Amino acid sequence: MTGDGTYLKHMWGRLALGLALLVLSLSAAPASAETLKVDRGLCHAETGLDTPDSSLSSLQFSCNGTPAGYHDASLWLRAEPGRVPDWRNDVALMVHQSRFDRLAVAFTYADGQVRWQQVLQGDYGPHWRAGGQIMFDAPERSVALTGITLRFDRLASLGLLRARLVPKGDAVVQSTGMAVTIGAALTLLLVSGIYSLSLAVAVRRQYLAWQAGWSATMLLWGAVWSQAHLGLAPGLAGTVSAQIATFLACSAVAIATASAILAVDPEIVARRLRVAALGLGGFVGVIGVPLALIRSENLAQWGDILGLIIIADLIAVAAYLGLAWRRGSVEARDFLAAWCLPMAVLAFIHVVDVDDSLWGGGSKIMVLLAATWQALWLSASATRRLALLRVERDSARASEALAQQLARRDPLTGLLNRRGFVESVTPLLDRARADDLSAALLLVDIDRFKSINDVHGHDAGDAVLCEVARRIERWEGPMCTVARLGGEEFGLLTIGMEGIVLARFAESVRRGIAACDHSVVIGEGSVTGSVGVAEVRPAGDFQQLYRLADEALYDAKRGGRDCVVVQRCVNGPPGEAPDREAALSS
Ligand code: GH3
Ligand code: MG
Ligand code: MG
Repeated sequence: MTGDGTYLKHMWGRLALGLALLVLSLSAAPASAETLKVDRGLCHAETGLDTPDSSLSSLQFSCNGTPAGYHDASLWLRAEPGRVPDWRNDVALMVHQSRFDRLAVAFTYADGQVRWQQVLQGDYGPHWRAGGQIMFDAPERSVALTGITLRFDRLASLGLLRARLVPKGDAVVQSTGMAVTIGAALTLLLVSGIYSLSLAVAVRRQYLAWQAGWSATMLLWGAVWSQAHLGLAPGLAGTVSAQIATFLACSAVAIATASAILAVDPEIVARRLRVAALGLGGFVGVIGVPLALIRSENLAQWGDILGLIIIADLIAVAAYLGLAWRRGSVEARDFLAAWCLPMAVLAFIHVVDVDDSLWGGGSKIMVLLAATWQALWLSASATRRLALLRVERDSARASEALAQQLARRDPLTGLLNRRGFVESVTPLLDRARADDLSAALLLVDIDRFKSINDVHGHDAGDAVLCEVARRIERWEGPMCTVARLGGEEFGLLTIGMEGIVLARFAESVRRGIAACDHSVVIGEGSVTGSVGVAEVRPAGDFQQLYRLADEALYDAKRGGRDCVVVQRCVNGPPGEAPDREAALSS
């Protein structure tokens, strides 16, 4: 397992890499774009909605002050060569999506010609571009372009409007870069969402389902904000999409908060902090509904207030996770690492105006990339945690299996002990009985073993037992199970062996034991064993076999030791008395 220190090093390393990638992508924004704002290059005029577009030439534009009262009217914004640096003919106007009913753009030329292009709520035609932008290409003409006019009908908030003049060649590069970046981010969010959901189903953890919900919400938000969804549903262009995006952004914050808070054991951190974080998250989710519906100048201010509440929520979640981490929660540690980057990004975009960077995607694309990062991190850390749990479970199972195996083995000789022997032979005996086969138990008891201990010591006695065990182990096989049943007594159980074959086998066991070489331990002199054999057909249970074999062994001892006595019990057809006999051999 990775130690905490190493983990931290990895964590900061990955965060630094993420930030470096973001900074790199920030620098991808070409410097040639000219941002248009009312106080920077744009003059304005307001008219009624029924004023025809053709009245453009007679309009009086004011280049000072701020437009007002345009929510139910038309707002005209005009850019001219003298007021915009680096004015050029081959230019594209990029307008970032805002809430309006209609946007008409007029390109005016030196010969007095005016070329109009327009988008309507629900119909952006060929003008929409990924990254939440609408593009208007200046028609190519040999005469100079002398003005660009934007006419907004029922614009919701001028404060949220962003427009840029970009050289046409750059506009293509920007749109492509934006589409590729957004496509990659959305794909990763989709993959991590599906992954978290399948993990949630597989391991039944609630926070993983929240995590999947968060990825799905960010995926939808990314698709709607960037207008990628217009490829499928062009009718959603405009205000509806902006409203859906606002609602989804708020929901995503609420769901992310829930997934982080619910991942941590509720006992670990004070209830008050938990409730505060969940409350702030829930508030952001709820406020998303009215915010999505607002159509007024106050929209931008509401957006700022929401931004502050989101920051407060992030701080509460971070405090909660930080405390939980300090108290040993692994989940909190992983979540905190995942939250660091989005938090840094949100704080950063509140302090630094990045709206014109990242091909014009600005803060939104930074949030999307940070969210993708967070989703991937959370998926990876959940996998890691579950993999560790699995490893721990597997090793616990292995230890349990080992303990069970050890409990069935005799530690001195390594043979099965009595318990292991009974467990192993019981199913064999059951099957033999069902198949009407005979079973035999050979009990081997070392002769006068006590005197070996007395003369040569207990250790020498142990060595003799091990030597005999090694000899007996050689008979272990599919037809014969062997064990040390206790003290200096060994057992061999065979299935299907009977009569003279069994007697010969028992005799070979006796001889094998007597032939063992113990000279290193006890010098000259042999160690012998007596063998009591129980032969039963059809096979009986272990107790019956043991009782008979013990009787036979007793007889063998009484008969002078180092010999074999067989006790047979052959049952005839039902009702007939069993046929018993004993045989002695040496
Ligand atoms: P018999 O021929 O009648 O079987 O004589 P015996 O001496 O073998 O019989 P008895 O049952 O009197 O003695 C068995 C001895 O085995 C007693 C006990 O101290 C010894 N023994 C039992 N388990 C172990 C063991 O694990 N190691 C050693 N060294 N001795 C053991
Ligand atoms: Mg003995
Ligand atoms: Mg004994």
